Amino acid sequence: MTDADDMRSGTRVIHGGQRPEPVTGAILPPIFTAATYVQEAPGQHKGFEYTRSHNPTRYALERKVAALERTSVTEAEDPSGGGFAFASGMAATGTVLELIDRGDRMVAMDDLYGGTRRLFSQVRQRSQGLDVHFADLSVNERFAEVMTADTRLVWVETPTNPMMKIADLAAIAEIARAGNPDVLLVCDNTFATPLHQRPLEHGFDITLHSSTKYLNGHSDVVGGVVVVKNAALAERVRFLQNAIGSVMGPFDAYMTLRGIKTLDVRMERHNRNAERISHFLESHEAVERVLYPGLTDHPGHQLARRQMDGFGGMVTFFIRGDLESTNRFLGALRLFQLAESLGAVESLVNHPAIMTHASVPAATRAELGISDSMVRLSVGIEDGDDLIEDLDRALAALK
Ligand SMILES: *Cc1c(COP(=O)(O)O)cnc(C)c1O
Repeated sequence: MTDADDMRSGTRVIHGGQRPEPVTGAILPPIFTAATYVQEAPGQHKGFEYTRSHNPTRYALERKVAALERTSVTEAEDPSGGGFAFASGMAATGTVLELIDRGDRMVAMDDLYGGTRRLFSQVRQRSQGLDVHFADLSVNERFAEVMTADTRLVWVETPTNPMMKIADLAAIAEIARAGNPDVLLVCDNTFATPLHQRPLEHGFDITLHSSTKYLNGHSDVVGGVVVVKNAALAERVRFLQNAIGSVMGPFDAYMTLRGIKTLDVRMERHNRNAERISHFLESHEAVERVLYPGLTDHPGHQLARRQMDGFGGMVTFFIRGDLESTNRFLGALRLFQLAESLGAVESLVNHPAIMTHASVPAATRAELGISDSMVRLSVGIEDGDDLIEDLDRALAALK
């Protein structure tokens, strides 16, 4: 199998970065569990020395995600083609932050995954002295105000979690490079997946995933993947991945590889179900407001149409009522399971204020609009009629 540049994403999820195992011809990469590799003479080996540094199963996953994100890095330049897999999304995030230095200034989206915000402001601000400035990067003027010549890194999420704001990646890249041509641009692409959005094509340097979510998609692996745009960055991230050592294990890499093969068909159903559900909720009297980029009244709708190839499976909405009625609604759901995480085949419901975003200070939550009546759905791939019936029944419990 060649990595033909012209493969579409729906083909890349299956064939991208993959080839039969050379010894047996096995159509799938075996799970190489060995921690170390035998050398013929000191320093004479087949390119594999120790599994933290090199693992063929992990490489297979890394190459696939790199192919999906359309990096320009080739396998001649980097053995895993510019993709790097980590033990979790946070491990990937932590490693990327090591690309900048003690005391450096960075700008980040204000509405971030709670754990990312926690790492920035409760860990790295202390241990690395990072000078982190949060701003609403879905408004280009806000970003232009905080982007300075000494800003070393910009961290974007789009769509954001849980407000579903859309940031203009190409515009951010242009404003950022005008401020500092050497700034590192990172996009957490977890919500969109590389099928819907490819930040490297918009001028970003790094795209990052919690592969725990859509990439693996089956709620049975925690992991993270980073893809970089060029060979120079690949060399730096490869060094850090090995030096820090928060790598993904071979079993998890295999599971994630298996999950990704259905990413395209899963996303089709996620999108369809979420679009139907957003319309259903929008027209329901017990619902105050729905945030979904596929709705024409969403402030980022036109931008999302241009920048993304699908609106995704995440829907946020506000119940007409208080914490007590929201709890009543959550308790009445049967199919939507109350759980953290997102992006898997089963539908999940989350109460951001108490669950995923509890680590965000209450004042910041209020500023961002994360209220007690906010509910976030990760719409799964079940039959959409069943999902709508479940929501309808639970909303009826509010009367
Ligand atoms: C879950 C998530 C993370 C963190 O990933 P883990 O795999 O849980 O460590 C980072 N960013 C986003 C957008 C996420 O949803």
